[in-house]
Amino acid sequence: MSSCKYVFVTGGVSSSLGKGIISASLAKLLQARGLRVTIQKMDPYINVDPGTLNPYEHGECYVTDDGAETDLDLGHYERFLNTPTSQANNVTTGRIYLDVITKEREGVFLGKTVQVIPHITDEIKRRIQMLGNTGNYDIVITEIGGTVGDIESLPYVESVRQLKWELGSTNCIVIHLTLIPYLKAAKELKTKPTQHSVKDLLEEGVQPDILVCRTEHHLNIELRRKVAQFCNVTINAVVESIDAESIYDVPLLMLKENLDRTVLSKLKMRAGDEPNLDSWKEFLGKLKNPTSEVKIGLIGKYVELADAYKSIRESFIHSGAVNECNVEVVSLHSEHITPENVHHTLSELNGILVAPGFGARGIEGKIIAIKYARENNIPFFGICLGMQCAAVEFARNVLGIADAHSTEMNAETPNPVISMMEDQKKIVMKGGTMRLGAYACAVKKGSKAFAAYQTTNISERHRHRYEFNNNYYQAFEENGFVPTGMNPESQLVEIIELKKHPWFVGVQYHPELKSTVDNPHPLFVKFVSAAMEDKKRREQNAPFAAENKSAVYSQ
Ligand code: GLN
Repeated sequence: MSSCKYVFVTGGVSSSLGKGIISASLAKLLQARGLRVTIQKMDPYINVDPGTLNPYEHGECYVTDDGAETDLDLGHYERFLNTPTSQANNVTTGRIYLDVITKEREGVFLGKTVQVIPHITDEIKRRIQMLGNTGNYDIVITEIGGTVGDIESLPYVESVRQLKWELGSTNCIVIHLTLIPYLKAAKELKTKPTQHSVKDLLEEGVQPDILVCRTEHHLNIELRRKVAQFCNVTINAVVESIDAESIYDVPLLMLKENLDRTVLSKLKMRAGDEPNLDSWKEFLGKLKNPTSEVKIGLIGKYVELADAYKSIRESFIHSGAVNECNVEVVSLHSEHITPENVHHTLSELNGILVAPGFGARGIEGKIIAIKYARENNIPFFGICLGMQCAAVEFARNVLGIADAHSTEMNAETPNPVISMMEDQKKIVMKGGTMRLGAYACAVKKGSKAFAAYQTTNISERHRHRYEFNNNYYQAFEENGFVPTGMNPESQLVEIIELKKHPWFVGVQYHPELKSTVDNPHPLFVKFVSAAMEDKKRREQNAPFAAENKSAVYSQ
């Protein structure tokens, strides 16, 4: 048996209390103490993965190196821990049922009645221990999605109950995240919802070991004692989680509350030296004391929901901090951008990012915005669909191919500058069938991308079906729209750049998925510094420096 220990994080009272951030913060503290930690998320919905969900439902779909389409909380785990997650780090109820039903069809259960208990709970437990049994981790933190008391989360809580009994209370602990609301009229913090939520958990057979209490005001000792007494936990196990200015403050707040020490003592593990959070603190210092500011437009069609572009927004936080620059991200709905209003809408921006996406809605607005960025020398960053739109724009407005399009938007276009990959054409199923996960890319020396990465061999994550059509390669290149990154095996175009532009880069992959606090993504870092240059140039009224006009690109 592996010696890995398990920490479960459940939620009560209300959704959106931030279980993902608490899990990631605890993991960060344990990692900073030298422990090997990973985080897993159990999602109680029936979709097999979030890949088929509209971003309006659960925010962005995060993609791992091994091509899993996952919940956006995995992005937080990676951004905090700077270690990659995988397929095993996100499991949904749909995935559990699919596996159990597939086994049933294969006759694995030998004629037995297949039931929630034990078959579904056994599969949940197997999935939880899969990470622990690799031998790669000292502690696995498993976040149980949803709120205790929901019908959907019952099998998960039951699995936690069983594991606690099987592995023992020093190998398996439960942190319950609750809310202590403040009643303004009474000027009081109220503990009753927390007490009831713990009762719900007890009814399902689980006594939490630690309570993390979300609150808008500090919890005094009397209140902590009251919560401890009525919820059967030690006083040091009542942890305050006060609203923070930034999610990146939470590890330090949890350190102050000794959450990591309490966890280690309950697991009977030696705490050792204080966690080393030097680089984290340095990042926070820069984040909070910017010396400059830029405005960057984020153009997409899901902008109403901030979570839809979570990783892009976080990447701007990381890359802004390195540059000691406050990046104000201005969300712009692509459907609202027209040739008439484009100048008014974009002229004040120091950079324009056109976001990933699917389908035709809002596509012409993106193309209009790209034309504006190209003609007015505004730094431009196109990600996935954003890069594809840049190719369509260039084909139409520079190469003079008026009917150029992506076959995603117009299957009949005579000039498919973006078209479907051959092996995608036969696929009819939607879930998990895109070009997903990490692929290698060879970056050309002399390019903006090379200046950012400082290497010719990179690996980035993908999630798309359509590609730059290499039949048009030469025409684009000859006119200054240069492919500067290629997949070394398939020769698919991964990066494009404009020669005569201060900073115009489009990528077929998703750099935002690999930006972390410790490792801000180099393209975002360079994009932000290009935006800072743009601001300076405007302030000095200087013409843009076409430093790449005569650039030579080499393999
Ligand atoms: N819809 C495009 C494709 O499938 C782009 C996808 C994306 O932006 N993630 O190729």
